[in-house]
Amino acid sequence: MAAGIYLHVPFCKQKCGYCDFYSQTQFDQIPAYLQTVRQEILSYRKQEIVADTLYFGGGTPSLLPAKEIESLIDLCRDVFSLEGEITLEANPESSSFSYLYDIRRAGVNRISFGAQSAISRELTLLGRIHSAKAIGDAVFAAKKAGFSNISLDIMLAIPLQTEKSLAETLSTFLAMEPTHFSAYLLKIEENTPFFQNHMERFCPDDDQAASLYLQTVSTLENAGYLQYEISNFSKPGFQSRHNLKYWSGEDYIGIGPAAHSAYGGKRFFHPSSLSQYMRSGGKNPLLEGDFGGEWERLMLSLRLTEGIDPDAFSFGDTLRKKAAPYLRAGFLTERNGKIAFTPKGFLLSNSILAVLLPDEK
Ligand code: SF4
Repeated sequence: MAAGIYLHVPFCKQKCGYCDFYSQTQFDQIPAYLQTVRQEILSYRKQEIVADTLYFGGGTPSLLPAKEIESLIDLCRDVFSLEGEITLEANPESSSFSYLYDIRRAGVNRISFGAQSAISRELTLLGRIHSAKAIGDAVFAAKKAGFSNISLDIMLAIPLQTEKSLAETLSTFLAMEPTHFSAYLLKIEENTPFFQNHMERFCPDDDQAASLYLQTVSTLENAGYLQYEISNFSKPGFQSRHNLKYWSGEDYIGIGPAAHSAYGGKRFFHPSSLSQYMRSGGKNPLLEGDFGGEWERLMLSLRLTEGIDPDAFSFGDTLRKKAAPYLRAGFLTERNGKIAFTPKGFLLSNSILAVLLPDEK
């Protein structure tokens, strides 16, 4: 089966207060970073890996010049016989028509905008440097540049967000007619300014967050976007093929600092350090452990609304018994012999999974 390639671009114009993704703001490092990325891609040549997705994630990949995106795609085509879905994460403010046009011609065929909210005060509090208008302009420009597969990120449970402001964000974004949405609940991580500044004081509490999530699920589903994963929704046929690999247990290779891989039964990763990555020449990622065990398969597959067939697991009988009370309570559902979380079940998925997993791991 073909693998996916994830390429981490660890640069941002400025750090958003809630973000714990690995990125930095020193652009003078970009040429040396690109050189190391090329070395790392080339190091896979002898393995004859075939890839059918490439995902530029970050950080802010749209900060890389279009000609560099093109040369990286060409190199991946050469080394991985790449053909298929090529996604680039972009921030609305760094997405002019000419840039989008150039990367579309270079082979990017799916664009994912970090939109987050259509409410100015919420964007400001998040530390985002784009305006709500910039999101609409970027989507318009992307369509004009030839993109027919456009995704928008939405953040839920952010400071000052209410049912009303979320409804406004959703209706503004729906009017832009993207093909895909990713909707993530804000989780305040310890090593962020949000944590240090106690921003949770301004955020919806857990009950309100749950209701904002359910509001998002129903609004998007009513608008024809099918939920296919805990945080992802698409028009029919527009699921992210790359991200589906993560949850379906397929192989993927992560290139760049902080990038994780799951390939050939092993998980491995590069530490979150650009200088360390460049010193290593992109070689010798650290081993994280085995990949593809039954428990891992269960946890990942249950993120998908398609669910799992208990009979595909050696502990299927126990799983059915343990799932029964959650099925009765509406946290799980059964369709065509498969068990899946319902939207309200997704909200408690971690604690339900802890019960469903076999006692000995
Ligand atoms: S633009 Fe994205 S990756 Fe960069 S700091 Fe903000 S949230 Fe993090």
